[in-house]
Amino acid sequence: MATQLFVPAFRVEECLEEIRECLVKGWTGLGFKTVQFEKAWGDYTELPFSHFLSSNTVGLHLAMHLFRTKDGWVDGDEVITSPLTFISTNHAIKYCALNPVFADVDDSLCLDPADIERKITPRTKAVIFVGMGGNVGQYRRVVELCRARGLRLILDAAHMAGTRVNGVHVGGDADCTVFSFQAVKNLPTADSGMICFRDVEDDARVRRLTWLGINKDTYARTSSQGAYKWMYDVEELGFKYHGNSIMAAIGLVQLKYLDLDNAYRRQLATWYSAGLTGHNNVNVVSHSEECESSRHLFQVRLRNRDEVMLALNEHEIYPGVHYRDNTCYEMYAGGPPCPNARKISEEILSLPMHMAVTAAEVRKISELVARYAK
Ligand SMILES: *Cc1c(COP(=O)(O)O)cnc(C)c1O
Repeated sequence: MATQLFVPAFRVEECLEEIRECLVKGWTGLGFKTVQFEKAWGDYTELPFSHFLSSNTVGLHLAMHLFRTKDGWVDGDEVITSPLTFISTNHAIKYCALNPVFADVDDSLCLDPADIERKITPRTKAVIFVGMGGNVGQYRRVVELCRARGLRLILDAAHMAGTRVNGVHVGGDADCTVFSFQAVKNLPTADSGMICFRDVEDDARVRRLTWLGINKDTYARTSSQGAYKWMYDVEELGFKYHGNSIMAAIGLVQLKYLDLDNAYRRQLATWYSAGLTGHNNVNVVSHSEECESSRHLFQVRLRNRDEVMLALNEHEIYPGVHYRDNTCYEMYAGGPPCPNARKISEEILSLPMHMAVTAAEVRKISELVARYAK
């Protein structure tokens, strides 16, 4: 049997039961389950405000749009970001006519605070930190740096559903944290995400922005009976970015199993590490001691990565690469180089990581990686 990199595990009957409720009630859109899921996510993470979206990508766009308009940033202002990420992170900066400035990563594959500091200019307004594979890296120092320099901090927590530091869920100390519940993330729905702000006003404004700028409060004030539903006001140009009840129904079920699933992911990581640590040609990317990582990814660095990848494919094992250095893409080329990110991008390999991977498969995959690594 082939071993894929990611296979989402759904509790099918439970998911269908939640979805059935939506269909029977005739309520599949915004409201109903989205409200329940936001509440459940807030209870789980203890983040003060949670707003359910159609994806993480739209959440990052909203964060950029919100802070740009709120703080008065202008075209070409700079946001420091990672070249080692999914392009959503960096597209979000471009959507708002801002300029992504790439800082280098450290051995955690997350942004290196020392290089962030070097990349700060008078036009720098914000930093987007990506918690690679659920790891926090030097996030704490980045929080301190942003506070000291008056920069907005956005946490791209697409991999971090369930990551805790000292027992506290990550995200509370950023200005905005955005999660992904896309199909192959560690809390899979099909496509959705959650945006979490620290500030009540930011949350309220983004709730209007995700539904085309419609201000529901105006009709709520006009009539408690629900007449005059069309009497809302529209104060600014918003987007159609909110989540729906079908996705929320799946999310509600998946959330119940998130800690259990993440614990199994950490178990897989422990098995992989045991099989691979100490091999001269295999460099295991370890996660920070201080965090209980969601372990979305298990990554190794190999000098002959492409060769090992092909050898694994021959054995019907399909690992992945997270990520190609974004400055290799035409539209992000041309800035000052980030040598670590470039080198790492040529060496990293993500090994299969999902609920159906067994101890025996981990043993076999580790043996093959160790055998072909040069
Ligand atoms: C998956 C991912 C995204 C985008 O998430 P969507 O919910 O698919 O929009 C953004 N950043 C990172 C690091 C990701 O892995």
